Amino acid sequence: MPTPPGNDLFHGLFEWRRETSGASLRLAVSQKFETVRTVPCPDTGRPLRVATVEVSDRAVCPACAQLGAGGYVSFVSDLRLAFACPSCRKLIWIAGA
Ligand SMILES: [Zn+2]
Repeated sequence: MPTPPGNDLFHGLFEWRRETSGASLRLAVSQKFETVRTVPCPDTGRPLRVATVEVSDRAVCPACAQLGAGGYVSFVSDLRLAFACPSCRKLIWIAGA
């Protein structure tokens, strides 16, 4: 078994995993049910309060355009979203609407 990447990927919000079904392999993230409450802002390092965390089975990463099981994070008093991409293995920040 290859060693999985560190658990601090996605700031502890999600767990990264490989899923195999038959011959196909796919990458996915799943929500960790630990109470992570803040994520550092990528610009300022200031802690942003997490509002909601949601895993979608068919999400498209805004950075690498891979379809997969990714996670969306929204924040309190901040319009940005973060997307946890299983291919990029990091949080991709999406400007708020
Ligand atoms: Zn990606």
